[in-house]
Amino acid sequence: MKFNDMKYEKLEVEDIIEKISSLNEKFNKAETKDEVLAVYKEYDEYSKYVQSMYHIAYIRNTIDTTDQYYSEQKEYWNNTFPLIQEASQKFEESLLNSKFRKDLELEWGNIMFLNMELSQKAFSPEIVPMLQEENKLTAEYQKLMASFQVEFDGKTLTMPQLFAYSQSPDKDIRKSAVEAISSWMNDRKLELDRIFDSLVKVRTEIAKELGYESFTQVGYYRMNRNSYDEKMVKRFREGVVKHIVPLTIKLKEQHAERIGVEKITAYDTFFLYPQGNPKPKGTPEEILAHGKRIYEELSEETKEFINFMIENDLFDVLSKPGKAVGGYCAEIPIYNAPFIFANFNGTVSDVNVLTHEVGHAFADYTSKNIYPTALRRYSFDIAEIHSMAMEFLTWPWMEGFFGEETETYYEMHLASALEMIPYGTMVDEFQHHIYEKPDITIDERNTLWLELEAKYRPWLHNEGIPFYEDGRLWQRQTHIYTSPFYYIDYCLSQIIALSFWALSQKSYSDAWEKYLRLTRLAGTRTFVDLIENADLPSPFVPDNLKLITDVAVEWLDKK
Ligand code: ZN
Repeated sequence: MKFNDMKYEKLEVEDIIEKISSLNEKFNKAETKDEVLAVYKEYDEYSKYVQSMYHIAYIRNTIDTTDQYYSEQKEYWNNTFPLIQEASQKFEESLLNSKFRKDLELEWGNIMFLNMELSQKAFSPEIVPMLQEENKLTAEYQKLMASFQVEFDGKTLTMPQLFAYSQSPDKDIRKSAVEAISSWMNDRKLELDRIFDSLVKVRTEIAKELGYESFTQVGYYRMNRNSYDEKMVKRFREGVVKHIVPLTIKLKEQHAERIGVEKITAYDTFFLYPQGNPKPKGTPEEILAHGKRIYEELSEETKEFINFMIENDLFDVLSKPGKAVGGYCAEIPIYNAPFIFANFNGTVSDVNVLTHEVGHAFADYTSKNIYPTALRRYSFDIAEIHSMAMEFLTWPWMEGFFGEETETYYEMHLASALEMIPYGTMVDEFQHHIYEKPDITIDERNTLWLELEAKYRPWLHNEGIPFYEDGRLWQRQTHIYTSPFYYIDYCLSQIIALSFWALSQKSYSDAWEKYLRLTRLAGTRTFVDLIENADLPSPFVPDNLKLITDVAVEWLDKK
């Protein structure tokens, strides 16, 4: 069905809650396994329907923000979501406590139950006031950061606008752009410290109330870590220090040489090529048309998928007045329809939509027949494999975007994928220390960050830039404030994506086969099981990371 023909039905939150509660009652009264299965199926279908209505409203609102009706609908959903979640949680509780649980586990496997247990472990009614406090604080941080505005180059600029100047070939311009950002942050450091102090305090209280030693455990439960623990993540970090960091030092030396500086400072990090970063050729329409060609040629599966997306108008990627900013991939589950939203602007980010977001959409499409729907939901560490690996698996078609700049694009993509890993790992290690010792002072915290910089990014020189040289760069990392322990997910997915890249250098068809197998399994396995099932090296064995860096070094040396 075409997106415009999909019918939106306005729902009232009271009706949704009543429906879920009545299903819950029916579930608890069921006396046979078949009855229980039948009620669950009804719940599954109803949840899909509710989610579809929410996503249709959300998508239509972002396509045309001036449409009053969908703007109101989206707002209504945002306000009522926690109430619906509460009702669903009660239903899940019944599922966990059902006398038929053993039978259900036999039928569906136990991962659904494992995940539900994890989310229950991070919650109890006693912590509700603390959660509200936590939300209030994260909202304060977001509001503070959103208020960013500075006078620069004769204009009033937002953070992304100013960021563009940090890529200028003129060293003085990019230096003053970075200084403008850091001095704005520096003027607000007391506020940033106050919010973070309170966040660490309330999160530690939440952990104590739930009966855990530190917030780290709660953070792991919140992130749905169902197959690896702190010790394994520590081993992963060791592998990063041992194998990825030395390679990134080498890459940064090349970077410095290329742009003609002696050492890389904060204001050089985004200026990568003296001739400018590679840009896709052609109009946004031509870029989109090449995207279609890629998936038609890649495999039978992607061909079917891309035709489904195009026939049903499930792409809205060209810029139009009234559209919201940004890009995303969302699904309308009752039609098994992924939807991709973006604003093409003729830069490399358009290509990213056609590889990264399409990776997410393809994963949705390819797992559409899995039941229960809960098995199609996965944590971020799995979701980002689908997208980041697709970025690499579409390399053979990049020439159609970048022409003579293709080699430069490859190099930029590979280097940025590798360089993001030490940074993300550092963000992760920082948070482990913070929640282990929640009482350390502000200075100790910043010193800790500087020590980690020296360990993970020894090539970076921030002397002379206030705020950065004081060890406060972490205060710009939203996730540290709003989504604790999120960052390592990106790093793990990136490592797996790079494993697919390394494999594709040897045998493309082998890499694609494995990718397809992993994607089709969706959330029916844990992260660790999926990797094992796809026969990929575990990132939790430090020396396995060498398998990737060896191929990368070989590839880079050939250039
Ligand atoms: Zn993504």
